[in-house]
Amino acid sequence: MADTAFIPKEKWEAFIEGLSAKALVYVPCIEGDTVMFRPFSKEKTLCFDRPANISPKGVIFPQSDTLFSFKFLKDPANPQKVDIELTENKTFPKVILIGSRPCDAKGFTVYDRPYTQTDTPDPYYKGRREQTTVVSLACQAPSAGCFCTSVEGSPADKEGSDALVTELEKGYFIEALTDKGKELLKEGGLQEGEAYRAQAEKAQAAVEAMVPKPFGKEGKVQVSKELFENDEFWEKELAKCLSCGACTYLCPTCYCFNITDEHHTEQGERVRSWDGCMYAHFTLEASGHNPRPAKFQRFKNRVGHKFLFYPEKYDGVLACCGCGRCVRYCPVSVDISEIVGKLQASAGNAAQSE
Ligand code: SF4
Ligand code: SF4
Ligand code: SF4
Repeated sequence: MADTAFIPKEKWEAFIEGLSAKALVYVPCIEGDTVMFRPFSKEKTLCFDRPANISPKGVIFPQSDTLFSFKFLKDPANPQKVDIELTENKTFPKVILIGSRPCDAKGFTVYDRPYTQTDTPDPYYKGRREQTTVVSLACQAPSAGCFCTSVEGSPADKEGSDALVTELEKGYFIEALTDKGKELLKEGGLQEGEAYRAQAEKAQAAVEAMVPKPFGKEGKVQVSKELFENDEFWEKELAKCLSCGACTYLCPTCYCFNITDEHHTEQGERVRSWDGCMYAHFTLEASGHNPRPAKFQRFKNRVGHKFLFYPEKYDGVLACCGCGRCVRYCPVSVDISEIVGKLQASAGNAAQSE
């Protein structure tokens, strides 16, 4: 089989079902009025026609992850003799994630740099990432708030995916991008796909032209450091923020966490859970001092991480994939693309006046 395949629409679910016999398959499922990534089963209603409300980051970076269990062993006959028994939780199943969007897949690459491309890789993230095949679905239209093309992505971006699927009138064109993606094409029920490539690329280009570009119009995103350091600007922009933290939880590129030991008498678990810089307690120090006590300072840090600090550390790569979830679902409609647009425009003005 070549690097591309085609599957008629009526065989798509059977294809997914076939994969689920060999791996844990996550797919976007409708639950109430939201779309969430869940393990595939025939009873679930799959939804591929809009991006999931919650990004699939939890498949590789669980919202709450037991790192290890511990047991405090004490010998009552010798009270000075104590020991601790540790049981690591490092067995990860083979996973196929189907229906993530190209921006979601790019989100995993933002995680990869600090979590795997370092001298001290995170074994939990790395283990799951290696076991996961990411099969992204090219978008057929941008959703409200999408701005992937402003941050060097596109509705058919290939970065971070093992295979890219494009929906056509009669079926799905599948392009394998890695060895893991090629494995998928060994599955039964697939036809040769090359004859559909041109049709798929035409459809992809049409969608790319539809994505709004609130900033980044002329190449690289440039953020005005002068405006970035202006507290009045942030205070005004963030006056309505509720500090609910939804933007960080929904974000496919936010990777901060907290660690807690959940204790029950003499045994317990060490658990890693998502955390986020929009919460007041996130930077609260044991002394009671908080270096970012105001919500505008927290948002400034969030934007700074994505558009200044991460690019400074990783060769200009932005840590926002433009998925637009934080724009769509912020209860008071704080719009990061609008704010970055102002920072970029101000940088442009500064350059012109030099
Ligand atoms: S940001 Fe781009 S890739 Fe992501 S859902 Fe929107 S159009 Fe698709
Ligand atoms: S989702 Fe909106 S209101 Fe909630 S913390 Fe983020 S910016 Fe503030
Ligand atoms: S900051 Fe907003 S638009 Fe950017 S990746 Fe996160 S949720 Fe998506």
